[in-house]
Amino acid sequence: MRILQGLATSPGIAVGTVAKLTARSSAPGALRIEDVAAEKQRVADAIEIVRFRLGQLYEKTLAAAGEEAAAIFDIHGMMLEDEDYRQSIDDMIERESVCGEYAVCETGKRFSAMFLATGDDYMMARAADVDDISGQIITALRGGESSPVPARGPVLIAAEDLLPSQTVQLDKSLVLGFISKLGNLNSHASILARSLGIPAVAALGDGYDMLQDGAFAILDGSGGALIVDPDAETLAKYRATAERLAAENARLQALSGARAETADGFSVELAANIGHPGEAETAYRFNADGIGLFRSEFLYFGTDGFPDEEFQYEAYKKTLALDPTKRVVIRTLDLGADKQAPYFQIPHEENPAMGYRAIRICLDRPDIFKTQLRALLRASVHGRLAVMFPMITSESEVQRIFAILGQVKADLRAEGIPFSDAIEFGIMIETPAAVMIADRLARLVDFFSIGTNDLTQYTFAADRMNPKVNALSDPGSPAILRMIRAVADAAHKNHIWVGICGESAGDPDLLMHYVAIGIDELSMSPHSLLRVKEHLRTLNKADCIQKSAAFLQ
Ligand code: PEP
Ligand code: MG
Repeated sequence: MRILQGLATSPGIAVGTVAKLTARSSAPGALRIEDVAAEKQRVADAIEIVRFRLGQLYEKTLAAAGEEAAAIFDIHGMMLEDEDYRQSIDDMIERESVCGEYAVCETGKRFSAMFLATGDDYMMARAADVDDISGQIITALRGGESSPVPARGPVLIAAEDLLPSQTVQLDKSLVLGFISKLGNLNSHASILARSLGIPAVAALGDGYDMLQDGAFAILDGSGGALIVDPDAETLAKYRATAERLAAENARLQALSGARAETADGFSVELAANIGHPGEAETAYRFNADGIGLFRSEFLYFGTDGFPDEEFQYEAYKKTLALDPTKRVVIRTLDLGADKQAPYFQIPHEENPAMGYRAIRICLDRPDIFKTQLRALLRASVHGRLAVMFPMITSESEVQRIFAILGQVKADLRAEGIPFSDAIEFGIMIETPAAVMIADRLARLVDFFSIGTNDLTQYTFAADRMNPKVNALSDPGSPAILRMIRAVADAAHKNHIWVGICGESAGDPDLLMHYVAIGIDELSMSPHSLLRVKEHLRTLNKADCIQKSAAFLQ
């Protein structure tokens, strides 16, 4: 028995035979060409073929795995349109008189290296996307079909780096799990595996090279391990766990129509955290009452520069229109600290988490802020919008935000552009300063959402990115729970609602306190929703109040 450790990218357990895919076809050589114009046209034609195929993959994925998964092929379509990418291919053909295959391959490598050099997980995962579309263009230039992976019975598919286009073309009835040498949590192949509910382990590194085609293995998509040639005892243990997980899944699915309330009838809104419009669909599949946190900064990561008003408007509109009856809380740009966009280089700071970030940037750069506010207001007519501002520390920040908002509204009115007058405006409570003046802030806004991730790091003076001090940051400690209670009291005295959107909102162990304190909304990863709902339905509010008070006294 051998255990290969990698990254857990899609939960679940699968047991079976490994089918190792061979490396992609050889890299094209630099063949000389005579007719530059004809060669450029050949590439343009191949790109058209790929565009058509992407449309087919989009439809296929939409039907099999929903919109979030299908959106991957929209992104590929956008990459295909990218001016720099296309220009760079044409320039190379012109400059070096080389064939299209070589120009596409070299350009793809250069763009992929650029993404990898950012050091950002999300951007690094885009490198695989560039490789995927470049590979597809080369295949089209060679006159071939992008080949679906041949499957020979239900197997664990293993590849160096699974491409999204390969992943969706696999016959799902023949795939037990995915194993890859490269990739991370944000790789599109990982996102697809999660959407399809197929267990996956990525980033096996050198361990992958030792893996034999045809080996018998257990894939532990929750622990991120591949157990090759397991002994009988291990196999029995994993088979039992797989059965338990399947039973648990069935039990949770049965809860999907049930109300989110305690056994004695006190309801709590259970909402979802998302980073892209497509994820709203997954959230509603897990029965979310709404979107409690749309981290809009993720829209700013896939672009060459700050996304324009139209791009943002479309993304917000799409999310709101998916279900206009559900409240969607969109948080304005929270760039900085651990979230950097390559085109907006913030000069080196000693303490970025306490530095130039979030609302501080927006108030400093009203041009960027106004573009986002215009897009949000315009989108508001398509659903039930709430806008939330991050990293608030003072009343004056809120006043300055509303002054800018007033200008944006006046401009839109002057231009005759409609927006809803029912938008709620709220703030995140994620700094100790905001907690201490929550009573004053509550008079200025329509709601609070407590960001326990940052509130915990600032309260314990323990960097959330530093594993050495992670254990200090405990959202279940009396220090944080007392803060949450004080904030909720301030909100309710001023007749506004209060939610929690940090990771701790999805922690069933803390639910008893949140019920006792009277939190109105909990917003969490879509995958935690049903588990939290199940636990909520076992609680009794009077009990919670008693137990929580004893803990916090
Ligand atoms: C938080 O700080 O709890 C929060 C939800 O915001 P983020 O994790 O995006 O900083
Ligand atoms: Mg935060």
